[in-house]
This record gives sequence, C-alpha cells and structure tokens, in this order.
Amino acid sequence: MRTSIATVALSGTLEEKLRAAAEAGFDAVELFEDDLIASPLSPERIRSLARELGLGIELYQPFRDVEALPPELFERGLRRARHTFQLMNRLGATTLLVCSNCSAEAMDDDALAAEQLRRLAEVAADHGIRIAYEALAWGRYVDDELHAWRIIAAADHPALGLCLDSFHTLSRRSDPSAIRRIPGEKIFFVQLADAPRLNADVLEWSRHHRCFPGEGGFDLAGFVAEVLATGYRGPLSLEVFNDVFRQADPRHTAVHAMRSLLALQEGLGLRPAPPPAELRGWALVEIAVDDRSAPAAAELLGSLGFSRAARHRLEPVELWRQGEIRILLDARGRPSAGGGTGPRLSALALRSDDPDRSARRARALLAPPRPLRPEVMGEDAVELVAPDGTSLLLCPAGGTGSRVTGFRPLPAATAPRPDAGLSHIDHVELGQPLDRFEEALLFFRSVLGMRLEESQELTAPEGLIRGRSVSSPSGEVRIALTAPLVEGGRAPGGQHLALACGDVFATARALRALGAPILPVPGNYYEHLAASAELEPDLIEAMREHGILCDRDRHGGTLFHLYTAALGRLRFEVVQRVGGYRGLGAANAFVWRAARRARRGR
Ligand code: MG
Ligand code: MG
Repeated sequence: MRTSIATVALSGTLEEKLRAAAEAGFDAVELFEDDLIASPLSPERIRSLARELGLGIELYQPFRDVEALPPELFERGLRRARHTFQLMNRLGATTLLVCSNCSAEAMDDDALAAEQLRRLAEVAADHGIRIAYEALAWGRYVDDELHAWRIIAAADHPALGLCLDSFHTLSRRSDPSAIRRIPGEKIFFVQLADAPRLNADVLEWSRHHRCFPGEGGFDLAGFVAEVLATGYRGPLSLEVFNDVFRQADPRHTAVHAMRSLLALQEGLGLRPAPPPAELRGWALVEIAVDDRSAPAAAELLGSLGFSRAARHRLEPVELWRQGEIRILLDARGRPSAGGGTGPRLSALALRSDDPDRSARRARALLAPPRPLRPEVMGEDAVELVAPDGTSLLLCPAGGTGSRVTGFRPLPAATAPRPDAGLSHIDHVELGQPLDRFEEALLFFRSVLGMRLEESQELTAPEGLIRGRSVSSPSGEVRIALTAPLVEGGRAPGGQHLALACGDVFATARALRALGAPILPVPGNYYEHLAASAELEPDLIEAMREHGILCDRDRHGGTLFHLYTAALGRLRFEVVQRVGGYRGLGAANAFVWRAARRARRGR
C-alpha cells in the first residue's frame, strides 16, 4: 500500500520535512496548512520539490468549521474553500481534509450538514478536488465516523467521502468492526496513529500523546484489517501529533515512522519480512573507556571478582571473565554517539538462533547492519546499531564466545583471585535520550522481535523517569530502557549492567573482601522494610550490613539486589532472584537513585 506521513509529525522547515519523508521512503505526505504558510517556497516550488523527491502531496489539511452552519456563515466558508481549492491546484494536491465542525455556530442538523457538504463537494469537483470528511472525536455534533458516514451517504456526491483516523475511532471504542459497513470506495483517506491509554481529555490526548503504530495501547492492526475489509486501497498515512517528535531530528523521526508502518504491514501479512530470530542470552558486553578511566574500570572489575582472561594482540582491548560473564574492556577511547569518551556500555553481544536472518530482517526494517568488526566478534556476527548508538552484536547461538578473535590468553595467575559468585548477565539498563525513547522501543520490538513490558514511571532526585523494558520471547535477554519523563528533566542517561548470583549474601561478603565500592543504602529504608514486609529481623539486618535492597512481587517472588558506585555513566547491579521473581526491582529505583546522588554529592 502507498505510505504517507503528515508534515505535522516531523520537526523542521517544510523543506526539511519533505526531504526526511522522501529519504525514509514515504510515497506521499499530508501537507499541513501551517507548514505551507510558514514556508518561503511558493506553492509551485513546493509542488516541484515534492515531485523531484518522488513524493505525492496526497492530502491538504485541515479545513475547519464549514458544515451545518447558518447560510451566511456557510457562504463565507465556501469563499474560503474556493481560495483553498485554487491553492491546492497550484500544489497539485487533490484531496482536502474537512474536519467535523467544532465551532459554537455549528447546528445539530444532519440534513443541513449533508446539504452544505454536497455544495462544497460540487465546487471542489469543479476544481478536480475531492473532500475527505473526518469526524473529530471532539467534534461538536459529529464525533464518530459512522455519524460522518451517514451524512456523506445522505449528501451523495462522488467528490465527497470519508477520512478515517484510527485515533478518533480507537479513543472512543476498542472495537472498530463497525467500519466494515462503510463501502471502501467512499473512504478517501486513512490516517493512522497509536496512543497510550490515558484518562485524559480527548483533545489533549490527541494533540500531545499520539505515537506511531505499535508504540501505544491501540490495536492498529485490528483497525487496518477492518479498513482493508471494506476494499479500501488508498494510502496509509501517519498523522501523529507528539510533543517529543516535534522537536526530534526529522530524519530520525521519518525512519522511525516508516519502520512502524513496515512492521504494521508485516503484521497484517501485507509486506513479508524475514521473521525475527530468537535471542539466546548474552555472549558478552563491551565497556568503552578512555585513557583516564581505563585503570578505574579495571580496578572496579577486579573488585567485583572478574579476572583478566585475554588481551588483544594489537588493540588496547581486554577480555574479563567471571562465571559465564564476559566483558570486553575497550580502551581505544572511541567517542560515543552522543559525544564524550567516558565509560559506558558500548556494545551488547547477544546470541541469536540465526544472525543472518536477523540481518535480513534488520535491512527490511531500515536498520541495515554495520560492516563487521571481526576483531571483536568473529566473522559470523552481525552488528546492528540501536537508536542511542549502542552497538548490538548478534552472534551464533552455539558460539561459546570463543569467537572473540585476535586475543592472546593471559596465563592464569598462580594464586587466582577468588571470584564473587557472579554467574551470568541478568539484564542491562540503557538510559535513552528523551527524543529516542519511542524509537528505541520500536527498534527492539520490530527489528529484534522483543516484547514490550509494562510502562513505568520512576521517581528520582533528578526528576521523573519513564521506564519500559523489552525482553526476548524466551526471556533470556532483557533490556530496561529509561528516559526522563519530560523535556528539561535532566537526562539521567545512566546505564547499568545487572549480574546474577545464586546467593546475594555470599556475594556481598566476597565483594566486601575484594574492596568493591558498594552503594550505601539509607537506614530509613531498612526501618521501613521492618515495618511493612514479612522479613525476619536477622535477614533485614544482614541486608542493612551489605546495602542490599529487596522487592517482592504478587506471586511470592523476591528480588535481592545491590548496586556499586558508578563508573562514568555505568554502574553494576548484583541480583538474586528467588521464587520466580520476574521484575527488575523498579520499586526500589527511587532509593538507589537517591543514594547514588547523595554519594556523588559528597
Ligand atoms: Mg453524534
Ligand atoms: Mg486526523
């Protein structure tokens, strides 16, 4: 199906928006009146620019408050419409979106609405233009597409049809099957937007919180399936009003938008893509450091019970190990995507059932793999880049990690240091820039086939934080994504690497003996715990001694966890899961985040 995006979904000047839409592969745009008015380009120049870019101007919008009016107001509306039709002829746009009347002058009179829309359609037809009538969810009398359709049917003019918008439909009802009753040839245009389920005023909800399909709480695939069942074969157009996208880089947003549309079409069987390959756990993680932080990183890893296992023959890159955990310490000092060379998780290597298929899928979803760095992962791996610049290396599931090539093993020390009982990687948290959060969710869900878990709001001294984690269907790979909830909130941008152990108290004692910098937890936390949880006083005392937090879920599972001091953006977490605990300890985020800030302040 043809793909389109509303210029209002993108930031920048009209020219920047058109170029971004074209580069992302859209066939067309919906041109917003404000974008035209604010553009220094003439309508003729906009038309030729769009043509040069291979974009159609599929729809011009919005045209407001014209139907169901007293005669003299309607005549005024018609004059305005004639001017708009002439403008559209200069733009080469052939469909005008007319929104259901929201004005105080509108009358609750369907026959009058039909008569006036018919006259409007007659004038439009004289200009070679069609009218697509859209029921806004906050329209004064017409707020539902079936009501709009009844008016259109009564008006009965070939140049008058319906514009469907998934937001208006799905914000009012979860079942869109009534759309089937509308003949497909009378549906002139279809706009798609998802949105989180909110208890908000519908206008505010629509204007600020729309998101791309697959990112909110609406069933967009179900909606589009109903639309297709009518026989509609026009474009699918993304009309997304979102505060964050309006200030993000339009080229990023356009690719992100197109990826959402590709994934939606894949889900409907309209555009097959290679299915995602199952992820089978962590092969290794790479920590990038620079000259200054490399010694501190090595010291921290040592204090956590890791041993240096191998060193690269040519590059300042070391392999550290403990249990099944493998960490590459990369001291080449490469700058991060956001600038800076300080310590951070720079690459996550995941075992995949089929890295080649993952690569083909990634290409199909506009996330082409990077040329490989075989010095790190061997030649069978595939490297993708997450929206925040983190490298994702997919390596064959059978790989034991011996794929790290070019390394010279270090001889085992004669008296090996004791480890701390850390066995494997439990999960990773990646702090995202606010304007990449949705894109990151969509990337992990669509490209890697991971599942989105519930969205959470976390409190931190720096401000509210949005958190949502993604997990592989097998549950073997979990990544928590976080971002400041509002613009202007200071981006925590933190990352953490959560390492699992079988006995958190034994590990805590080992870490103490090794001199690990454990984040201290306020005494108030343990007093609160003593009052509210059914934990033995001795257990609470042991937790207090080692800075261990705990969280219990509804199913009787318990998480014990502790944090280390930070290394640049990165900190380590040690976790022990008991009784099938599934969460990530989000209930304690406010405690350790405050503790971290208190420590930094000292
Ligand atoms: Mg009604
Ligand atoms: Mg709309």
